[in-house]
Amino acid sequence: MMRAKVNQGINLNDYNGVWVIGEQREGKINPVTIELIGEGRKLADQLGKELAVVIVGYEVEKEVKELLHYSVDKAYYINDPLLKDFTTDGYAISIAGLIEEKKPEVVLVGATSIGRDIAPRIAGKVGTGLTADCTKLEIDSTDNKLLQTRPAFGGNLMATIVCPKNRPQMSTVRPGVMAKAVRTESETGVLEVVTPELNEKMIRTRLVEILPKEKKSINLTDARIIVSAGRGLKRAEGFELIKELADKLGAEIGASRAAVDSGWIEHSHQVGQTGTTVRPELYIACGISGAIQHLAGMSDSKYIVAINKDSKAPIFSICDYGIVGDLYEILPEMIESLNR
Ligand SMILES: Cc1cc2nc3c(=O)[nH]c(=O)nc-3n(C[C@H](O)[C@H](O)[C@H](O)COP(=O)(O)OP(=O)(O)OC[C@H]3O[C@@H](n4cnc5c(N)ncnc54)[C@H](O)[C@@H]3O)c2cc1C
Repeated sequence: MMRAKVNQGINLNDYNGVWVIGEQREGKINPVTIELIGEGRKLADQLGKELAVVIVGYEVEKEVKELLHYSVDKAYYINDPLLKDFTTDGYAISIAGLIEEKKPEVVLVGATSIGRDIAPRIAGKVGTGLTADCTKLEIDSTDNKLLQTRPAFGGNLMATIVCPKNRPQMSTVRPGVMAKAVRTESETGVLEVVTPELNEKMIRTRLVEILPKEKKSINLTDARIIVSAGRGLKRAEGFELIKELADKLGAEIGASRAAVDSGWIEHSHQVGQTGTTVRPELYIACGISGAIQHLAGMSDSKYIVAINKDSKAPIFSICDYGIVGDLYEILPEMIESLNR
């Protein structure tokens, strides 16, 4: 399949419904899929149209059926032995083929490493517009177009982008930003198995081996509690104190970019615009000033507790509870009272 021409003069009325391109790895559904279904449901309801989820893979029917519990109207399962492992060509060709056949009007893709790889290729193949890394999606009530908002220029500008003349309207969406769909006991939608037109020659990459991550991966997106620290720690050893509190609370450890850039902790812990977006029940910010790029990643937390020496630090303007003081005095007291 070649790249399609962009100005195709298509009839917009031929296109219908909202699609979520879900993601599975070794049969495990990526949580961003459930977030996109939650968001997709809202958009589909506003448009008065159907919501479908698409999963590509082989021998994962059980996992695809499970998605019918999340208020989708349809699940397309693109099933082929050639799709057992992820390849850019295999996935992009088979999804683009289904889009050309069924003509959805909106297609949402998670901004994961797989999603960021395939979304532009799909958009190129079907000849439409794509907005990357959206943090907000809305339907324009005057003309039913999708308003796709994303941070631009280092988060200093929020750009709202529309795709007026081409379909589908495609967006990749940041993991962790949208609220998850809720599971219901009964299945709501129907499963349709799709056999793509694929042969081995179409797939130009060969998977040789998948290596597991060496380090224990941390999961900030799903953490219920996060204890996070910034430059106010002053030294790497400070994270031992953070870890002590985190262990007491069953929390994951977060960090500001300043702490990561200082080499005190790995980037996988970074919260913010260029790190992970989180929305835990409780976010404890220790020695973090609250720069806009940090707030971009955590301001949707349910409760925010800030510990900072500077009473004028911007973090205090968004926190629910603030403690002005030295974290090296306050954290040991918190740990001690949790021990009691
Ligand atoms: C394009 C771009 C992307 C960015 N992406 C991110 C991102 O994803 N995440 C991110 O975090 N930043 C990001 N930044 C950087 C961001 O602008 C800030 O520089 C950074 O968040 C500051 O980190 P901090 O709050 O730890 O440090 P600082 O701003 O230096 O704040 C340290 C705070 O600690 C307090 N403090 C000092 N000593 C103590 C003590 N003993 N006890 C208690 N408090 C103390 C100080 O009062 C101060 O408020 C980005 C910047 C740019 C330009």
